[in-house]
Amino acid sequence: MQPDVLILGSGAGGGTLARALAPSGLNIVVLERGGYLAREKQNWEPRAVFAEQRYHTNERWLDKHGRPFRPGAAYVVGGNTKVYGAATLRRRATDFGPVRHVDGPTQGWPIAYEDLAPFYTTAERWYFVHGKRGEDPTEPPESEPYPYPPIGHEPRIAEVARRLRKNGVHPFHLPLAINLNEADRASSPCIRCNTCDGFPCLVDAKGDAEWSGLRPAQDAGHVEVRIGARARRILTDETGRRVIGVEVESDRGPETITARVVIVSAGAVNSAALLLASRNDKHPNGLANASDQVGRNYMCHNNSAVLAISPLERNPTIFQKTIGINDVYLDSGDPAFPYPLGHIQLLGKATAGVLEAQRPRVPASILTWMATHSVDWWITTEDLARPENRVTLDAQGKIHLAYRSTNLEEHTRLAQTLKTMLGKIGFPIVLFQKMGIEAIAHQCGTARFGADPTSSVLDPFCRAHELENLYVVDGAFMPSASAVNPSLTIMAQAIRVAQSLQERFRAGDIPA
Ligand SMILES: Cc1cc2nc3c(=O)[nH]c(=O)nc-3n(C[C@H](O)[C@H](O)[C@H](O)COP(=O)(O)OP(=O)(O)OC[C@H]3O[C@@H](n4cnc5c(N)ncnc54)[C@H](O)[C@@H]3O)c2cc1C
Ligand code: SF4
Repeated sequence: MQPDVLILGSGAGGGTLARALAPSGLNIVVLERGGYLAREKQNWEPRAVFAEQRYHTNERWLDKHGRPFRPGAAYVVGGNTKVYGAATLRRRATDFGPVRHVDGPTQGWPIAYEDLAPFYTTAERWYFVHGKRGEDPTEPPESEPYPYPPIGHEPRIAEVARRLRKNGVHPFHLPLAINLNEADRASSPCIRCNTCDGFPCLVDAKGDAEWSGLRPAQDAGHVEVRIGARARRILTDETGRRVIGVEVESDRGPETITARVVIVSAGAVNSAALLLASRNDKHPNGLANASDQVGRNYMCHNNSAVLAISPLERNPTIFQKTIGINDVYLDSGDPAFPYPLGHIQLLGKATAGVLEAQRPRVPASILTWMATHSVDWWITTEDLARPENRVTLDAQGKIHLAYRSTNLEEHTRLAQTLKTMLGKIGFPIVLFQKMGIEAIAHQCGTARFGADPTSSVLDPFCRAHELENLYVVDGAFMPSASAVNPSLTIMAQAIRVAQSLQERFRAGDIPA
């Protein structure tokens, strides 16, 4: 098929965009460097998933010291949403403006919450998001209820929520993108299992970019997904103002695919790498990079996993990830430290198998005891866009990722806040593990959007300032990360971009 629109990458950005554009009747081709994630028993085996990293790329990136590391990235149809934890929160309204943090302010967005709100609503519908409005004190305005009811707490988690509330905390039902029908479990696609967060879904019941994005898009009949097809370089015409095609490597060998519009959706790091690799006479620093911002401002959150242990109480919960807490999201509550701390949510249940995959030297009996008694959490603090935190390529085309954390004091205080909360409700032991550079799950920021072409790469509809028909639609567009998980925002913006792109096609603004 000769594409009108060529999408490079099939994750949260690319997959959602394909679905949103499909009703237009345009020919759409999605290139995905990986294949379909195999449906196999290993999908739900902790050793295969966490110890052997069966679904992560074998690629090595290099840190700022030139040391290689294996990024935790899934190069498959659906991208990282195939293994995500499905926590699907909207950004808070204040996250769109500059926010003051201990290490400096965030960059404000060129759009407000209200601009994205209708697209969040659509994304929540497409991705089966379950939740309950009105419980989270920081949630942004929305008059419609969630399209699906909140996922119920199992008894131990209901008890944790009750005790938190008794102590003045406001736990809310975490919005989750899983296709679960609790009213009719017998016919529910999701079986509410304990291998969801970080695992692929063997029964295809996660609201991921394959099942909520590409597959419905393909039903339109003029959307083609080509797997094992890696975009290598984007080509422009001699003016440098228009993209004319993409050099692609696949088992068919090298080829050039032309299209009227090219959308880069390869994930924040790979999208920046692709733009940098596409430099030419007119774009000597990389495509769309006159601002010198391509690859810069990489963010990925300060994230820590937390094991809270109650030696006297067991936790038999199967599906645990049902509570969120935003009590210190906007403000620490300490007048001497007038900054936000971040977001707290439950993690998928840590089983002995999961712990063993991560701590193989600890005796199995200890890990089993810990898993039996723990309630497991995930805490997130916003990090800041810093120009020196960046993606670059070396002469061999290898990806280098320089990253230094910011706002660590906020993160430490968030950890302490959670520890105090949990100490009061029966968890005297609380263990933290901060994520390292290989945990690229929440990558964003490397081609930020903005109104000013001298300080941003993309316009507010994610079109490159310098090229009429090049868009970047994935986590790269975000000028600030907020402290909530990124996917729903990437999906909502993809739907918003699709709408604007269709208007351009209808207006004849895009030559054949
Ligand atoms: C373990 C884990 C848990 C997570 N949990 C959550 C969560 O609970 N909530 C949440 O909101 N987010 C979560 N995330 C993050 C979420 O998955 C990402 O934010 C989201 O998938 C990013 O979307 P994207 O479109 O930017 O990139 P991706 O989804 O990564 O998609 C990029 C796609 O492009 C492909 N690609 C790359 N290079 C090329 C190329 N040159 N040519 C062709 N194709 C290419 C890749 O193979 C991939 O399929 C999690 C991530 C991980 C890894
Ligand atoms: S909890 Fe549901 S969506 Fe998640 S892996 Fe299990 S069956 Fe799939």
